[in-house]
Amino acid sequence: MSFVNANYLNLPGSYLFSEIARRVNAYVEDNPKRKIIRLGIGDVTSPLPPAVITALSRAVDEQATDSGFRGYGPEQGYLFLREAVIADAYRDLGVGADEIFVSDGAKCDVGNFQELFSADSKIAITDPVYPVYADSNVMAGRGGPLGEDGRFAGIIYLPCTAENAFVPALPEERPDIIYLCYPNNPTGSVLDRGELKKWVDYARERESVIFFDAAYEAFISETDIPHSIYEIEGALEVAVEFRSYSKMSGFTGLRCGFAVVPRALSGRAALGGEKVRKVALRDLWMRRQTTKYNGCPYIVQRAAEATHSPEGKRQCAALIGGYMQNARLIREAFARKGLVVSGGINAPYVWVTLPGGTDSWRFFDALLRETGVVGTPGAGFGPSGEGCFRLTGFGRAEDTIEAVERLENFTL
Ligand code: PLP
Repeated sequence: MSFVNANYLNLPGSYLFSEIARRVNAYVEDNPKRKIIRLGIGDVTSPLPPAVITALSRAVDEQATDSGFRGYGPEQGYLFLREAVIADAYRDLGVGADEIFVSDGAKCDVGNFQELFSADSKIAITDPVYPVYADSNVMAGRGGPLGEDGRFAGIIYLPCTAENAFVPALPEERPDIIYLCYPNNPTGSVLDRGELKKWVDYARERESVIFFDAAYEAFISETDIPHSIYEIEGALEVAVEFRSYSKMSGFTGLRCGFAVVPRALSGRAALGGEKVRKVALRDLWMRRQTTKYNGCPYIVQRAAEATHSPEGKRQCAALIGGYMQNARLIREAFARKGLVVSGGINAPYVWVTLPGGTDSWRFFDALLRETGVVGTPGAGFGPSGEGCFRLTGFGRAEDTIEAVERLENFTL
């Protein structure tokens, strides 16, 4: 028998969502007539915008013709989409189409990009966090032992709590890689220009690389919040950025995203002794993608391109507006209860700090029992998430309104 990659055995079980499902199923069995309202979901519920459907079906029809049929596409993505992305978001930020890598979503990119770094690289993540950052590094052997506090000994954790307004402090110990996600899942918080500049300056000074996950960029409503890390001077040399069509245009099922890997961004390669040379991460990523990936489907890339058209943009904005209206209602409902609430302004996530550090699973049970509303216990996103609870604006509008009405009479 062959030995497996034992790092996988260090991963905590996918306890969170299976445990939620178990508790919800038990509740449904006991209360078969009660309608459950799921506000814990990170998936979208509205159908794809009409401009996307039109582009998608046109691209499908092309496949039935000799002239329109496409086989393998360029691994980096079709130029029409990369150019649409540049025109829409990066033209003024010094990014070119050859620095965009189209993919089938941000999860793969944020999970895979760490492969370009040495096995002993030190990573820093916020706590709470989108679990993919930690787990992909644990799989690669960078986690070290899992402590009783729920933290991997080999990872630097940056706590984000109500005390620091969910803005992490710069780490004292130097990480090779820093994962930042803004607007943040799960806390819904953002970094303003000044805060993000601190991170870029730190990365430049300490020669770290920032993995900037901007999957929720389209949900930003306030003006001083950067949409891209490249709005900060000097970021092209220290940051890779990830974006996704999932939440902003309903592509969670269709699958499309992209990574921005600037030519100016490099890592170090040891040449023996003290000698090192610079290596462009863009070239390594290109090599990685051409070896392990065969590209996002043509029809999906045409659909993604349609989100950048004036009509597509209007329709996506309406989609986002609906989710943000839901988030606002949820946010206000919890704020009326006197709770500390983060998010719901520049992000579809609402993060509630529970009174007196209430156990997040206890709150989950109480909310479900009293209202039939399902959220996500903060403890599922990391030890610092304990005492907090996540709700999302991704439900259907009528369900969210009903949930908020039920919440009115709920007391912990
Ligand atoms: N990054 C963050 C922070 C997310 O919350 C998600 C999805 O929930 C993703 C990336 C994954 O996005 P995609 O659907 O493009 O893979």
